[in-house]
Amino acid sequence: MNNLAGQQESGGVIIAKMDDLLNWARLSSMWPVSFGIACCAIEMMGAMAATYDLDRFGVFPRPSPRQSDVMIIAGTVTFKMADRIKKLYDQMPEPKYVISMGSCSNCGGPYWQHGYHVVKGVDKIIPVDVYVQGCPPRPEALIGAFLELQKKIETENILQDQFFPENA
Ligand code: SF4
Repeated sequence: MNNLAGQQESGGVIIAKMDDLLNWARLSSMWPVSFGIACCAIEMMGAMAATYDLDRFGVFPRPSPRQSDVMIIAGTVTFKMADRIKKLYDQMPEPKYVISMGSCSNCGGPYWQHGYHVVKGVDKIIPVDVYVQGCPPRPEALIGAFLELQKKIETENILQDQFFPENA
């Protein structure tokens, strides 16, 4: 990470802010809660498989929201699913992030006009950090979303905001 690498002193001592160390650890081990709700999930699974290998970025799907810090909304968000998504999101510990993958999740997609059963954007029920365009987006696009999320995490000051909010 640039912030850490730039502060290496001669003699092998690294001086860094605690927030930078935490950010480096968090952005290097993002754990999405493993679920998918429609066809975009196939591309998400492709991104996790051998060819694209999201593991190399430290992205490991977890079977429980309580062990996860990222939620990928991959598919059509129906009103029936909306309550379940909100419940899973609420069970995730802070800090947590959401990637909206594909047109359905972003805005209702092909159901935008006549899909009476579809929520017109998952950001109407939970906050979204990164949007991925496409129907469906390719695995490379999802990898790009994780790189964007890494950039966002790199700039956060969680400890400073919590213990020294006057300096924020
Ligand atoms: S955006 Fe397209 S590929 Fe993705 S869930 Fe909707 S219809 Fe399926």
